[in-house]
Amino acid sequence: MAATQVKKGRLLTGDRPTGKLHLGHYVGSLENRVKLQDEYECFFLVADYHALTTRPSRQDIAEIPENIREMVLDYLAVGIDPNKSTIYLQSLVPEVAILHLLFSMLVTVPRLQRIPTIKQMARDAGLEAIPYGLLGYPVLQSADILMVRAEVVPVGKDNVAHVELTREVARRFNYLYGRVFPEPEVLLGRFPILPGIDGQKKMSKSLGNAILLSDDEKTVTQKVMRMYTDPRRIRADIPGRTRGNPVFIYHELFNPNKEEVEDLKRRYRQGRVGDVEVKQKLARALNQFLEPIRQRRAEFEKKPGIVEEILIEGSKVARREAQETLRLAEEAMGLTYFRRREVLVG
Ligand code: ATP
Ligand code: MG
Repeated sequence: MAATQVKKGRLLTGDRPTGKLHLGHYVGSLENRVKLQDEYECFFLVADYHALTTRPSRQDIAEIPENIREMVLDYLAVGIDPNKSTIYLQSLVPEVAILHLLFSMLVTVPRLQRIPTIKQMARDAGLEAIPYGLLGYPVLQSADILMVRAEVVPVGKDNVAHVELTREVARRFNYLYGRVFPEPEVLLGRFPILPGIDGQKKMSKSLGNAILLSDDEKTVTQKVMRMYTDPRRIRADIPGRTRGNPVFIYHELFNPNKEEVEDLKRRYRQGRVGDVEVKQKLARALNQFLEPIRQRRAEFEKKPGIVEEILIEGSKVARREAQETLRLAEEAMGLTYFRRREVLVG
């Protein structure tokens, strides 16, 4: 690890290995991760236990390894550098399960039931009732964050409520047992929640409405050409709405040619431009943005075993931190009887 430079503190965030990463992840979190790698000691977590909260079947689990591989390739492709940052696999750091259990004593059920994302996730996954593990999703996330005593958590807006819970857990723990944990801050991306190509509020792996970082040029163009726009605009000469229109949101975020974007917006509002032109220009901008990411991905794909190697090395680093944090937490709690440490560490 090239950690010679003095860093400001620790940063942790992660993703569930439920599919490939998309533009929503990029603006919500990945962009900040890449930017902050030199400033913070970064931990990037592949949250495979979290994947089980909505996808526990044997078949779902069989898909996890391939999803992990694709996701870590996405990380590397956008510029997350394993020489600067620790990329690790949640289930290779089993201490997190113990911390999750300890934290679960500090959170009430009604508090968790009020978190809107959990209900939404249950609905999206077609679950009738919320499993105990899914209700605990943000408690497990708190354990991930506090396990490395992270101070900064770059996530999309949908995750803010979880980090708020993490702060409460840290505060409660510190109040009861003495200060062990920082109260981590959220770092939001430059756009709160990127909508899907179907106009739904959130682009999401599970909703099939995403432009993937690994999509090829043709796929991106096809997806853009069938994107949702202003539904009231049935002809090109009808003035359209640019605000909240996903096509223009993407233009603003990914098209570096600001003049072109302003010109398209103006003409769209006046009913002087067709959807086809707006979309063709967007497809071109997105493909230009994605091209270097695709190229880096292709380079890493040529190296067999690289993902496994990165995860195993990273997990060793994360695990050392986890063991140290768990020791501090248990000592603060007085959970030290019967020579527990000695027996556990063996
Ligand atoms: P899943 O459908 O499996 O829940 P997801 O696409 O919602 O997948 P997560 O793994 O839940 O992705 O989220 C990982 C990170 O990416 C979180 O920080 C989340 O806030 C952020 N993120 C995901 N989708 C978006 C989006 N559309 N806009 C902004 N940020 C997003
Ligand atoms: Mg999600």
